[in-house]
Amino acid sequence: MADEIDVAERLRENELQLALAKHQQNIAMNRKGALFCEECQDKMPEARKNAGYRLCIECAKDKERMDALFAK
Ligand SMILES: [Zn+2]
Repeated sequence: MADEIDVAERLRENELQLALAKHQQNIAMNRKGALFCEECQDKMPEARKNAGYRLCIECAKDKERMDALFAK
């Protein structure tokens, strides 16, 4: 009887660990790239988000243009 409780307890612990690991993975993913562009709030393309960008292509282009303008 005591063993059964022990197993159940251990299983629950495993589930908790798994949930925690998933949660931390989510945080890491969110930190990696933005789900939505920080400028125009458009949805980020999956590949761009995974690459760690926080601006969509259009806004990145705009920013590049602005940076070039104010580079001097
Ligand atoms: Zn944008």
